Amino acid sequence: MNRQPNKPSLAQLDHKYVWHPFTQMRDWLKSEPIVITSGKGSVVRDVKGREYLDANSSIWTNLHGHNHPKINAAINRQLKKIAHSSALGFANEPASLLAEQLVTIANPKGIKPPHLRKVFFSDDGSTAMEVALKLAYTFARRTGRKQPKFLSLDGAYHGDTIGAVSLGHIDLFHKAYSGLLFKSDKTAAPYCYRCPHNRAKPERADARTYRKCNWECLNKLERQFATQKRKANPYTGFVFEPLMQGAAGMIAQPEGWLRRATDVAREYGAQLIADEVMTGFGRVGQASRLSPFSVKVRDRQDACPTVFASHIEGVQPDFMALAKGLTGGYLPMAATLTTQKVFDAFLGRYDEFKTFFHGHSFTGNQLGASASLASLEILQSQESIRARKILEETLRDELAKLWTLPNIGDMRQMGLAIGIELVRDWRTREPFALRERAGIRVCDAMARKGVLTRPIGNVIVLLPPYCTTHSQARRIVQAVYEACEEIFGK
Ligand code: PMP
Repeated sequence: MNRQPNKPSLAQLDHKYVWHPFTQMRDWLKSEPIVITSGKGSVVRDVKGREYLDANSSIWTNLHGHNHPKINAAINRQLKKIAHSSALGFANEPASLLAEQLVTIANPKGIKPPHLRKVFFSDDGSTAMEVALKLAYTFARRTGRKQPKFLSLDGAYHGDTIGAVSLGHIDLFHKAYSGLLFKSDKTAAPYCYRCPHNRAKPERADARTYRKCNWECLNKLERQFATQKRKANPYTGFVFEPLMQGAAGMIAQPEGWLRRATDVAREYGAQLIADEVMTGFGRVGQASRLSPFSVKVRDRQDACPTVFASHIEGVQPDFMALAKGLTGGYLPMAATLTTQKVFDAFLGRYDEFKTFFHGHSFTGNQLGASASLASLEILQSQESIRARKILEETLRDELAKLWTLPNIGDMRQMGLAIGIELVRDWRTREPFALRERAGIRVCDAMARKGVLTRPIGNVIVLLPPYCTTHSQARRIVQAVYEACEEIFGK
C-alpha cells in the first residue's frame, strides 16, 4: 500500500492504536513491528519488502499457502454473487454444500457410530467449542443429568470465551478469570517427557523410547471417572484435543492413549467432545505417528487419508469442533459437528422452547464457506496428500539434526505439527523460567533469519503450510538451529 510521506507509518499507527492478543504491550511498543502486507505460498512479505517463511501457518490457520489461486477464485466467484446473508432465517448455497462435505469427511468408511450428522456454523475455535459445550450441557440436562460436569486435560486450551476458558487448565491464561468460570475437572495429560511415571532415562535423541510406563495416567483417569460416578454425578463430557494438545505446548499423545482414554469415558457414559481446531484437516498427519521416538509407522493405503485426528485412532466423538484450517486459513469461520441424537433433543413444538438459542451474525457466511469448499478440495487432492507426506518426512529428517544442541530437551512431531521444547540442559531437563523468555528470544532470532513463528513458553512451534517446499523446510529447521546457537551459545 502506498502511503503519503507525511502520514504516520503503518507501524506507527499500530503502536498508537492497536492492542495485540496474548502480547505484553510494553514489550511490543519497544520495537518496530513487522507489518505484513502480502503473502504467496509459504512466504509472507512485509511493508519493507522483506520476506519470511510463515513457519506457524499464521497461528495454525493456513493449510495450502497464502494467495492460493483456487481459494482466491472461489472467494471471488462468491463475491460476485453475495458476500453475506444471515443464517438466521435463510439458507445459502455454499454453507449447505459445505455442511454436506463436512458430514461426509467426518464419517469416513469404517468408523464406528455415533455418526456426526449435523453442522452448526460459528466464527472461530472458541465459539465452536462454546457451541459444543452448550449443546452437550443441554443434552445432558434433557437426558436426566441435573448438574452436568466436564472433564478436560491438564494444560487444556479451548479458546478465550468464558465457556471455553472454563474447560481450560492453563493457570497463566485462565486463573485471572476464575470468578467468572464454571468448574471443570482436569485429568493428567500424557506429557511423557515430564511424566512422573515415565521410566525412560533421559538418554539422548532419536533412539529414546518415548513411553515406558503402565499407563498410570489412564489408570488415574479411570479412577476419576469411578469416583465421580460414586458421587452420583458422573462426568457428562470428556473434552480433549486428539493426538496432540496444541497450546499446552504441543503435547503429543503416545499411540493408543486416545483410544484408551475415550473408551474409559464412553464406559462411564460421558459424551466425547473433540477439539479438532488445531489438529483437524490433516494437520497431525495421515500416514504415521511421527514422534521421533515413536516406533510404529501406519501405512495407510487409503485414497483419501484421515482428515481428522480422532479417526487416526478410530475414535468418533459426539461433538467435533473445527475452525482455523476450515477455510484454509482465509476467513474466520468455524463449525461444530454433532449427532442426530443431540439434534433431536432440541426438537419440539415452538412453545416448548427447546430451540438452541445460540447464533452469531456471520454464522454460515458465504465467503467463508466458499473458501472452505475450495480448501477441502485441495486437501483431498492426490497432489496435496503426496506433498504432505513428503513434507512430514523432510521435517522429521531435518529435525534430527537439532538433537546435537544441548538446549533441545524434547521434540514432538505429529504429522505437520511440531513442538521443540527448550531446556536449560537436556540431561537434567530443567526448564527455563518463563521470565527468561527463552522461547520468545529464539523466535525473535528466527525472525531475523527470515522465519516466523511464535513460541508457547519454552516450546518452539513449527506448523508450516502444506505447500512448504523441501528447501523451505530445511531453512525453517536451520533457523531454529542457528537461533538456538545465537541465544544459548555454541
Ligand atoms: N481450540 C484449540 C485447540 C486452539 O488451539 C484454539 C486457538 N489456538 C482454540 C480452540 C481457539 O480458537 P480461536 O482462537 O479461533 O478462537
